[in-house]
Order: sequence, then C-alpha cells, then structure tokens
Amino acid sequence: MIQFDAIHKVWPDGTQALCNVSLEIPRGQFCVVLGPSGAGKSTLLRAVNGLMRPSGGRVLIDDIEFNLGSERQLRQRVAMIHQHFNLTNRMSVAANVLAGVLPSVSTVRALSGWFKPEQRHKACQLLDRVGLTPTHLKRRAGDLSGGQQQRVGIARAFMMDPEVVLADEPVASLDPKISRDILGLIRDAAREQGATVLCSLHQIDLAREFGDRIVGMRNGRVVFDGSPAEFTDDCVRSLYEGAHWDDSADDAEQNEPVQRSVA
Ligand code: ADP
Repeated sequence: MIQFDAIHKVWPDGTQALCNVSLEIPRGQFCVVLGPSGAGKSTLLRAVNGLMRPSGGRVLIDDIEFNLGSERQLRQRVAMIHQHFNLTNRMSVAANVLAGVLPSVSTVRALSGWFKPEQRHKACQLLDRVGLTPTHLKRRAGDLSGGQQQRVGIARAFMMDPEVVLADEPVASLDPKISRDILGLIRDAAREQGATVLCSLHQIDLAREFGDRIVGMRNGRVVFDGSPAEFTDDCVRSLYEGAHWDDSADDAEQNEPVQRSVA
C-alpha cells in the first residue's frame, strides 16, 4: 500500500505544488492521476521514490516511511516508467533493460557492466513479455520507434519485481493505438506481479478504461477520488475548467484526506 499523509510541497521559488494531499492506494490497484498541466501529478508521483522531497507530510510504502534511513531499501521496491522513456540511446536494448537492476548492485558491479546469467535471462523474458523479439536485443535503443522504446522502459521497470510502479504520462508521446497497447502491458505485468500502479495520464478515455480508480488533481489538491464509473463528464469538466472545485478548495487547510467524489 502507498500512503500519502498530508503531503505538502512548496518549491524554493514559492510555487505550491502539493497542498495537504492524503491518499491510500491499496496493493495491486491501478490508480490513474488526472488533472490539468501543473496540477501536481508529477510532483506527487515523485514523492514515492524520493525524486521529490516534500516540504511536509509523509509518504509510506507498506507502513515504512520514506526517509533518509529507508530510502535505499524502498527505492528498490519502486520502479518508474517515464514519458520520454529515459533510455540510454547509444546503448543496446539489452543493456537498457539490465540497467533496471542497477539500484540493487554495487557501484563497482554497475561500472563493470557484468550481470548474472539469471539477470540476463530475465531481461530476455521481459523483452519477450512486452512483445520485442531477440533481434531487438542488440539494437541501439535510440534506433527504436517510440512505442518500442516504451516497451523497453516497461521491461526495465519490471527487472526488479517492483511492488510499486510509477508511470509518469507513459503514453503522452505515443499514438492512441500504441498507447492502449502500452497501458495494457503495464496493467497486465503489474497484475502478474501484484504491483501497485500510480499512473498520470491526460487521456480521459484511457483513464476510464485502465484505471481501477481515478484521482483528479487541481492546483496541488485532490478534488476527485472515485471509480471510473463515478468520473462522469460533469466531473471531467469540473476538473479541467475548475469552477466547482476551486470554490471549495479551502478543505485543504484541514489535516484530513480530501476524498471528494462528485457524482
Ligand atoms: P503536472 O505533473 O500535473 O503537470 P507538476 O507536478 O509537474 O504538474 O508541477 C506542479 C507545479 O509545480 C507547477 O506549477 C510546476 O510549474 C511546479 N514545479 C514543478 N517542478 C518545479 C521545480 N523544480 N521548481 C519550481 N516549480 C516546479
């Protein structure tokens, strides 16, 4: 389970990116985070793997608080899939997937580029799982199409059998058909693994199709939290146009989770 407990983030320039966000995301859930650009989706996801340090509040994974003492241990349980894939373009597909184990190996091992046979075997299995063939293994990652690069990103993310998968706009630069395939792969791989997925998206139809739950954010606050069925067209309008929810945003001053599902 991922728990956000009154998370607050003010950037050094004074931008308030998150305001009193409290959420509990149970193990195995595919939770989609929606909201206009600048709503705080990325900042929220990054609080789970320590890429963003909150100004206040706590993030817990299975009741272990993310802090300097637990960071190394927790980071190994959390994988991230990025909008722009974050592959090393000049390296092979195989090397990019194997890089998924780097958080768990020593610096010397990482620099040597030596991986255990079982890790190589797993990389091949995962590439097969995401629909890439052995012919792709030695190709430069940068030579693949966007959809293929994101398949590599997914394989890399699952190298460490993550308990949590953070997917930050994973299909933002892909066409609709490939986006659906990619989200299907993330969902199915996470299900097989029993992993929790926290995925930011900007496509409403895909959020409804793939999310077990939709969290709507606006101005750093959670303004909708409910099932895809509850996320009606009126909710979509309110989330993106803001009229209804901006008026009632002062709830965020309370130290309570904002669990608003407007039907
Ligand atoms: P979203 O992912 O919903 O588009 P973000 O989480 O990226 O939103 O950003 C939330 C707010 O925080 C925005 O106003 C953004 O400009 C601001 N922000 C994000 N990163 C930084 C940063 N490093 N320094 C200052 N402001 C930032």
